[in-house]
Amino acid sequence: MSKPRAAVIGSGFGGLALAIRLQSAGFEVTVFERRDKPGGRAYVWEDEGFIFDAGPTVITDPDCLKELFTLSDRKIEDYVELLPVNPFYRLVWEDGDVFDYVNDQDELDRQIAARNPADVEGYRRFHAYSEALYQKGYLELGAVPFLDFGSMIAAAPALMKLQAWRSVYDKVSSYVKDEHVRQALSFHSLLVGGSPFATSSIYALIHALERRGGVWFPRGGTGALIRGLVKLFEELGGRIELNAPISKITTAGGRVTGVIRHDGEFEAFDTVASNADIMHTYRELLVDDPRGKAASKALEKKRWSPSLFVIYFGLKAEHPDIRHHTICFGPRYRELIGDIYNKDTLSEDFSLYLHNPCATDPGMAPPGGSAFYVLSVVPNLETADVDWSTEGEAYRDKILKYLEDRYIPNLARDLVTCRIFTPDDFTTELNAWNGAAFSLEPILTQSAFFRTHNRDDKIPNLYFVGAGTHPGAGIPGVVGSAKATAALMIPDLLP
Ligand SMILES: Cc1cc2nc3c(=O)[nH]c(=O)nc-3n(C[C@H](O)[C@H](O)[C@H](O)COP(=O)(O)OP(=O)(O)OC[C@H]3O[C@@H](n4cnc5c(N)ncnc54)[C@H](O)[C@@H]3O)c2cc1C
Repeated sequence: MSKPRAAVIGSGFGGLALAIRLQSAGFEVTVFERRDKPGGRAYVWEDEGFIFDAGPTVITDPDCLKELFTLSDRKIEDYVELLPVNPFYRLVWEDGDVFDYVNDQDELDRQIAARNPADVEGYRRFHAYSEALYQKGYLELGAVPFLDFGSMIAAAPALMKLQAWRSVYDKVSSYVKDEHVRQALSFHSLLVGGSPFATSSIYALIHALERRGGVWFPRGGTGALIRGLVKLFEELGGRIELNAPISKITTAGGRVTGVIRHDGEFEAFDTVASNADIMHTYRELLVDDPRGKAASKALEKKRWSPSLFVIYFGLKAEHPDIRHHTICFGPRYRELIGDIYNKDTLSEDFSLYLHNPCATDPGMAPPGGSAFYVLSVVPNLETADVDWSTEGEAYRDKILKYLEDRYIPNLARDLVTCRIFTPDDFTTELNAWNGAAFSLEPILTQSAFFRTHNRDDKIPNLYFVGAGTHPGAGIPGVVGSAKATAALMIPDLLP
């Protein structure tokens, strides 16, 4: 029997993970990537000897990645070296307060007690709650494809018991009273596009995920992990085409027949899985099919996650005192987040995530230098119609000045290279609807069954993988979505 031929559109973490699962199971897989390098949001910029991971830098749940290698009796360590990161994050506030988010209970207790002794016990209860969420929401339901409402009903009692209707911040606040500790335990949902004040408390599972699995960084950067995945996929016989944007998914008789490449060439496939943006897939790639029109209309009514403004900058100075991951909280927390999700202009203030990979791997910069990136979560293009072609440079200068004044002395003097990535770039480079950095906003009414299904409801051999599908954004999320999608595709096509 000939092998089923599958096309995967997009080489993000989700696309690559699915491609590896299918190829390992006996499919003949081709990955089509529109950009010149694989990785999607995990793209890599290289300027003047500095290596900048464009997107994900906090690698959690290494087991979900290891599994991709063990499927074919291989070991991840033969492809990429994962280095532990400690502290997981350093959190800093403008009043000079510093909290090192570490995986050491005594050290955590000490820091929490210094702020509010009663919160030590509150934290323990929060951690136990997060563990319960992790068991149910991640281990049991994280890689389950929610295709019908019945599957949602089945999960509902457990979700209700865990009070999934409450927000992350609301739930955290029921355990601890100190405002900085509340922020320390609730900011994580922002890393997958969710407001701590609106996203389901299910996302508080990220805390247990990090405490259990640790936080890691690949030697050579996240790009080295992507290269390891591509190597594995190619060793398994998979084919990856770069600079290969797909312009259409073709259908006939209610089924996918193949894809049309940018040069107009048609290639037949038994099945297609899209790792591209879900709106782009329905609206552009399926423009000729009534299903494309109907699904994209429905998606227009959804809430999309915020965007990001990212500055990649290389310095001719070392900064080993700056931790690998630093969250620089601005003057406002709740109010700023409210603005990002709802206000139609850019706020004056910001909170920042500062990435200093040289703290873990000095090889990311030329000797004596450091390769930073800093990001600010900003409204998506639907929420605030900011003209980034004019605002971008001013916003960059404001952020760099803020960093120089507070955290990185002599930044301007030592600057060797600098580039920005704005919400407009998310649209043009990644086909992201509204420039959303994390696809659909992860609120309860857009999660699980209410997110784009891993298999299309109408076209039975069309599948989805990545941030727009269940369980959602973030590397463990999209790698989990690949597991859910593969669990449908393999029995569907390899009876
Ligand atoms: C700046 C930033 C920082 C982040 N930090 C973290 C972090 O520290 N930890 C973490 O876990 N997560 C992080 N995330 C989230 C995480 O990176 C994403 O959720 C995840 O990588 C998305 O993977 P994906 O599989 O959905 O595919 P994507 O990365 O979105 O890739 C989709 C791919 O499809 C391609 N494509 C689109 N249209 C077409 C077409 N027509 N033809 C061919 N190809 C096409 C795109 O070029 C792209 O390569 C971060 C995200 C960003 C943006």
